[in-house]
Amino acid sequence: MVAMAINVKVLKRPQLSFWEKLYIPQVLRGLMITIRHITHFQPITVKYPEEVKALPENYRGLHVMPGDDEGEIRCVACKLCEIACPTQAISIVSEPADDYGIERRPKVYNIDFMRCVFCGFCVEACPCDALRMGMKYELSSYNRAGLVHTKEVFFDPNIKSEAPRDNANFLYKMHKGEILDSPEEISRIMGLDGTYSEKPDPPAAT
Ligand code: SF4
Ligand code: SF4
Repeated sequence: MVAMAINVKVLKRPQLSFWEKLYIPQVLRGLMITIRHITHFQPITVKYPEEVKALPENYRGLHVMPGDDEGEIRCVACKLCEIACPTQAISIVSEPADDYGIERRPKVYNIDFMRCVFCGFCVEACPCDALRMGMKYELSSYNRAGLVHTKEVFFDPNIKSEAPRDNANFLYKMHKGEILDSPEEISRIMGLDGTYSEKPDPPAAT
């Protein structure tokens, strides 16, 4: 068995002077600090709701759903936000759609604010800028049902987004919003590997 060396560090007791042993200077210094705080007091209380505190630009408040150019909701019900949510606060029920070349749209889009921790992961996950963290923070209700907000509450057509309607749907981007209907075109698209990439134009014949 190997003996382990133990390092012992011997500490000396601090030697207090006569005045330090009285403790009177320390008490007086503490009183001076207290008096300075009283005489230089700066009130930081905000008289909410009459006064509203300015929030930082990156504040993560209640969610908003921006609108597109047609004033429609941008969400394509891909459910990536639902998967990314660590508290399972988002619930989406999709329905088929044939508007703007998208396949689905949300029939129901709810966020349960009893679960939400305002982490913003859902916004990070959204491929088409259909969900953002807003600046509102008033969140109260007389019952639990009132804390489950629907897409009608989130949707704000006054907030616009310039992002492509659906980055995830490469068919839409490829055809500039036209809905594919020719069988040849559909079969050609079905043969692609699913990754959108613009093919360079063939070199012009000389
Ligand atoms: S902010 Fe976070 S917790 Fe709240 S809905 Fe989005 S992902 Fe879920
Ligand atoms: S990730 Fe965006 S587009 Fe997809 S369901 Fe969520 S909000 Fe809608």
